[in-house]
Amino acid sequence: MVVNVHKVSDGVSEVELPEGCVICGGDLHVRMVGDGAMSYCPSCHHIGRARATVKGDGLRVDFRVAGRA
Ligand SMILES: [Zn+2]
Repeated sequence: MVVNVHKVSDGVSEVELPEGCVICGGDLHVRMVGDGAMSYCPSCHHIGRARATVKGDGLRVDFRVAGRA
């Protein structure tokens, strides 16, 4: 998957994950601050937490799934 990383400001980046929303399957916007990340879906307005790790040219985004025991 190819993702475009937009640098918002120092230490803050934003990526767009096509069909990345776990709720509605819409495009998911993930804002990375340090080693934490917030995800936001403009389609269903779902806000979630994620953890983004940049390794070389690759970007790994782990979502914390809420509501699971
Ligand atoms: Zn959504």
